Amino acid sequence: QDIDPKQRAWIEVKGKALETNVRQLRTKLRKNCQFMAVVKADGYGHDAKVVCDYAIKGGASELGVATLEEGIKLRSFGVKKPILILGNLYTKRDLIISFKNDLMPTISSIRECLVCNNIGKHFGLKFSLHLKVDTGMSRLGFESKKFIQQFEKIKSFENISIEGIYSHLSSADENNALDSQSITQSQRLKFNELLKQINFDRNNEIKIHLANSAGMLLSKDFHFHMVRVGLSMYGYSPLAKIDKNLLLKPALSLKVKVAFIRTIDKGVSVSYGGKFVSNRKTKLAVLSIGYADGVPRNLSGKIKVIHNNKFYPQVGSITMDQMMVDITDSKEIKVGSIMVLLGSDGDKTISPLEWSRKSNTIPWEILCSFKNRLPKVQV
Ligand code: PLP
Repeated sequence: QDIDPKQRAWIEVKGKALETNVRQLRTKLRKNCQFMAVVKADGYGHDAKVVCDYAIKGGASELGVATLEEGIKLRSFGVKKPILILGNLYTKRDLIISFKNDLMPTISSIRECLVCNNIGKHFGLKFSLHLKVDTGMSRLGFESKKFIQQFEKIKSFENISIEGIYSHLSSADENNALDSQSITQSQRLKFNELLKQINFDRNNEIKIHLANSAGMLLSKDFHFHMVRVGLSMYGYSPLAKIDKNLLLKPALSLKVKVAFIRTIDKGVSVSYGGKFVSNRKTKLAVLSIGYADGVPRNLSGKIKVIHNNKFYPQVGSITMDQMMVDITDSKEIKVGSIMVLLGSDGDKTISPLEWSRKSNTIPWEILCSFKNRLPKVQV
């Protein structure tokens, strides 16, 4: 007999929310600016296939992944749209696999260009790729000063087709950093200057792109021909200042069933280390979810869960596979009742943004930390 995916704990993904988010975000774009849906890390933990299907329905024209495997997986799902690998492929073998699967690599050096050109020549075709330039992230990309000269050489390669030139913002979503705005603007100016210096003709076929979610939401000046959007498509704004006209809908919920209920006396310790001690006779619900599912252990005692439009506090250390919740005030919660860890129930909501603040990390990390043992259920 098959196990019910909702037997223990699971992630629910609302495809329609993804579609609506993409549609809405696209209304904010500069005219003719395209939308690349960033679906790396299994669609930020949402299930890359579901995300692709609905992002494309919402009007995404390209997809971004991090690795060769992620790109191949999308092709195996039947995705036909252009796919850009945002990570770096540097061996000939990997670049051949990329070429054969119609995946565009990100190219950061003349050497990689040459390898792609040779592969194109070998197959008697052009190898489609995007060139990346570094404007301040110091991660991948051609060094901007050298790129101007190198671009002349790259243009002479006959068996590559430059589909795009792009860069990546380092600080657009750093809401607290005082100088993040000026870093972001200076990256944009550097990128513009570079395009000017290579005599880039804006009417040609090469797509220019710079913005992630934060860049896209900051200003149309960052839009160019395409934006690469992740976090906001999943329903969360990376900016502290939120556009009131933008009603993003979180696509993910994290739910768990109550596995066991016990009542403890006043003065009894709960979980490893006995960090929580009951100050009254307490009814505890044991939830079968823990840090092995991707719930950060450092959230122990700091989060709540929702049942039937009411919050209940999590108590004691979060363990590998279980956590306890104080349900003393509830008469209705039973073994098998569903508790919401992330998402909404009634008018109550718990967001990964809240978890990330309490866990001293970023929402991106919360979303892509969920483990495969949590089934993903599309609703
Ligand atoms: N572009 C690149 C190169 C990225 O690495 C990422 C994500 O990390 C994105 C775009 C999407 O960023 P965001 O999720 O902030 O929209």
